[in-house]
Amino acid sequence: MSLDVEKIRRDFPILSRTFAGKPLVYLDSAATSHKPSVVIEAEADFYRLHNANAHRGIYTLGEEATEAFEQARATIAGFLGATDPARLVFTRGTTEAINLVALGWARPRLGSGDVIVLTEMEHHSNIVPWQLAANATGATLRYIGLTDDGRLDLPANLGSLFDDRTKVLAVTAVSNALGTINDVRALADAAHGAGAIVVVDGAQAAPHMPIDVDAIGADFFAFSGHKMLGPTASGGLIGTRERLEEMEPVFGGGDMIREVFRDHSTWNDVPFRFEAGTMQVAQQVGLARAVRYLQALGMQDVRAHEAELTRYAIDRLDAAGARVFGPESTTIHGGAVAFSYRDVHPHDLAQILNEDAVCIRAGHHCAQLVMRRYGTPATSRASFSVFNTLEEIDVLVDAVQKAGEVFAV
Ligand code: PMP
Repeated sequence: MSLDVEKIRRDFPILSRTFAGKPLVYLDSAATSHKPSVVIEAEADFYRLHNANAHRGIYTLGEEATEAFEQARATIAGFLGATDPARLVFTRGTTEAINLVALGWARPRLGSGDVIVLTEMEHHSNIVPWQLAANATGATLRYIGLTDDGRLDLPANLGSLFDDRTKVLAVTAVSNALGTINDVRALADAAHGAGAIVVVDGAQAAPHMPIDVDAIGADFFAFSGHKMLGPTASGGLIGTRERLEEMEPVFGGGDMIREVFRDHSTWNDVPFRFEAGTMQVAQQVGLARAVRYLQALGMQDVRAHEAELTRYAIDRLDAAGARVFGPESTTIHGGAVAFSYRDVHPHDLAQILNEDAVCIRAGHHCAQLVMRRYGTPATSRASFSVFNTLEEIDVLVDAVQKAGEVFAV
């Protein structure tokens, strides 16, 4: 194992919980991850010692709050490869970040005949905002399809996916429903070649692997803090300076303005013009602490650990006769393993697993286009984080087999 998981597990207080005498086996980090004590303490310490509204009070306590918030911005932006902290707009997470781009950048620019390219493996939060933008502007959506083994079905010449009417490519770095890791850079180069911008859904990538937003060619990169050991309502949108300057404000209110007149206003600088009203100060401070925790583990090692868990899970589920979705190779399969088992409905399976305190997700995973593509209304999904062990996967597979016996027809 590339990480000292026993030591890591002691950092997560919730892992000491038991359910009906059984230890918690949490395999749902793709939905939300648990938080180490240092993150819980960082958020509590902010409230205990430094709480004031950011960017407002000129008293020392207010300056401390502002300093903590802006230091968090620098830490989080740097973690994702943006050395200029002003490139990070804080949001409540990925959904808000993508909506911000669709509303603030795309809507004012798109028109009839323009094209938004998506993929069939997108989470609904990287589909629906684009549908709304298309409906409002007359633009059309085009989808990149999927192969049987859960990869993007790409032509040899990626340039043929885009033409001069393509304005946006919106693609996930890692699929939450299939685990697939996409070669975003190759797609981004082709999209840029046609003059389109590239919006990357980083929700399942930022927590699990080293990310450099510029190296992958993202004009915009959206991510959620609650999936990367941070608090709920933390996360953000990283953009290039050029694209952020082009983007229109979406929410109006306090702190996003420079001057307000009776009939119009002028805008504050990037990124503050996108941060109307009181922000998630304590949560983003907590996320910065989560980032430092991940940095101390080393993102290469985090990735290696989760790849090892994924390999083991795929092999054991295969051997147990489950149908595993997504790529076979863990070089392109991140730490989320979707599967179905015999005729057992995923909800029944999840319920039986709960009897052994095993938490997995059952359903369409907010990716109904993926479910349609593979002809199933729902799958079961086990997803991993830094605190998971091979033994937990054994507990999972044993419980899955037990469920098979209970529901055998
Ligand atoms: N995109 C992907 C790939 C996701 O997995 C998720 C969360 N399941 C989201 C977007 C939405 O993230 P949030 O709910 O944190 O906004």
